[in-house]
Amino acid sequence: MTGAATGDGPALLKVTGLKTHFPIRKGVLAHVTGQVYAVDGVSFEIRRGETFGLVGESGCGKTTVGKTVLRLIEPTAGSIEFEGRDITRIAKEEMRRLRQRMQIIYQDPYSSLNPRMKAADIVGEPLKVHKIVSGGALRERVEALFERVGLRPEQLDNYPHQFSGGQRQRIGIARALALSPSLIVGDEPVSALDVSIQAQVINLLMDLQEDYELSYLFIAHDLAVVEHISQRIGVMYLGRIVELTDKRTLFSNPLHPYSEALLSAVPIPDPGVTREGRVILTGDVPSPINPPEGCHFHARCPYATERCRMESPSLKEVEPDHWVSCHLHEGNVADATELRPERT
Ligand code: SF4
Repeated sequence: MTGAATGDGPALLKVTGLKTHFPIRKGVLAHVTGQVYAVDGVSFEIRRGETFGLVGESGCGKTTVGKTVLRLIEPTAGSIEFEGRDITRIAKEEMRRLRQRMQIIYQDPYSSLNPRMKAADIVGEPLKVHKIVSGGALRERVEALFERVGLRPEQLDNYPHQFSGGQRQRIGIARALALSPSLIVGDEPVSALDVSIQAQVINLLMDLQEDYELSYLFIAHDLAVVEHISQRIGVMYLGRIVELTDKRTLFSNPLHPYSEALLSAVPIPDPGVTREGRVILTGDVPSPINPPEGCHFHARCPYATERCRMESPSLKEVEPDHWVSCHLHEGNVADATELRPERT
């Protein structure tokens, strides 16, 4: 299976050939005049206790993958298996119950928290809605969650604007944890925070993962952010995963030219060390309304050939657990590396 999780235990989440297309409607009769190919055939697995990082520039479809996995957006095709069960087409009511086990943390902690609700009510809301606890027990549970994410119980009755950005994200994490989920989708959960606060929140997420055997689908545009927390990483470009492997392999031996470019933009902590052969990406991600023929990356790729403009590469396992979608890497990796032309 493409992007299969390796290591112990069965996959908690298995996504196969996922497509999410949005119709473009025009005119009074709202005729469909085209499609936005936001997610166009994505497959990966996440096992229990694992973090799978999904990276790519904005507009590549990674957030849509996260929301489709939770069925907050309906998939167009493909399948989503969660805890061994196909949830792709189960009824909304059943999905609502199941969603207790699948939570999301959003990018902007401020806009995702109701400014008119006290922090205690925000964190306790899912427990109330799902009728899990009430009254004094609810307050106690919320207090415990507050402390677990590093907030003080005295802050329970404060409103979101009385917290810092990092603290607001901790409230979002406490709310996501309230229903004891097994999977949390983090949609750019630290991107809006200062770098020093980012590290604190990532460390908190890692501690919680260890305590509760949580699995994360961690979505970010920045490889440096997913590096610390992820075991495996999928690199997305224009609705598709173009490279998928474990973190160490991706950082030491990126094979897709797009991964190479993303990676060469990651700063090296040691000021005395520079990255050789830095790849600067030019241009923007093309529109998912009208994706280019052939390889979607060809207009920005320093290695593009005529074949790349005509023929779309498929995602292939070029070495154990290392999947790449590029004509330069088909079959034997050593041969493909030799085939790589000099960058111009
Ligand atoms: Fe570049 Fe061609 Fe590989 Fe696409 S298939 S990434 S254009 S070399």
